Amino acid sequence: MIIASQIKNMENMEQSCIFCSIIAGDVPGEVVYHDDQMVAIKDANPQAPVHVLLIPREHNLESLNDASKLDVSLLGHLLYTAAKVANQMDIAESGYRVVINNAEAAGQSVPHLHVHVLGGRHLAWPPG
Ligand code: 5GP
Ligand code: ZN
Repeated sequence: MIIASQIKNMENMEQSCIFCSIIAGDVPGEVVYHDDQMVAIKDANPQAPVHVLLIPREHNLESLNDASKLDVSLLGHLLYTAAKVANQMDIAESGYRVVINNAEAAGQSVPHLHVHVLGGRHLAWPPG
């Protein structure tokens, strides 16, 4: 059961979350796709000619680590939409990478689950 203090904490997190602010329209973001579950925006500091972030509208998962079985449908939708957005941005044929950074050592800087879609250049492997 979620108690009142937990709801308050979630509200505070949302208020200070840059992605929630963009989704609410309080901070500008270049939206390339949206639906009832998620919004896709261009990354403000692109690491490739195409760099899009797929962001769930709800701030209930800080990272993949928080996902439960209840989130399987949302996670599938994010991956499916990554391919759709890659197609829309014209990088499907040339190649693209789908990335989720999880926690500090992997470079996660915004604690609101999001999927990176990168393409438009050669992407080295292994990643740095
Ligand atoms: P992470 O490092 O958490 O995996 O990815 C966060 C991404 O969000 C980074 O690539 C960063 O450039 C992007 N980002 C951070 N703040 C903003 C913002 O205000 N607007 C946009 N469009 N992207 C942002
Ligand atoms: Zn958020």
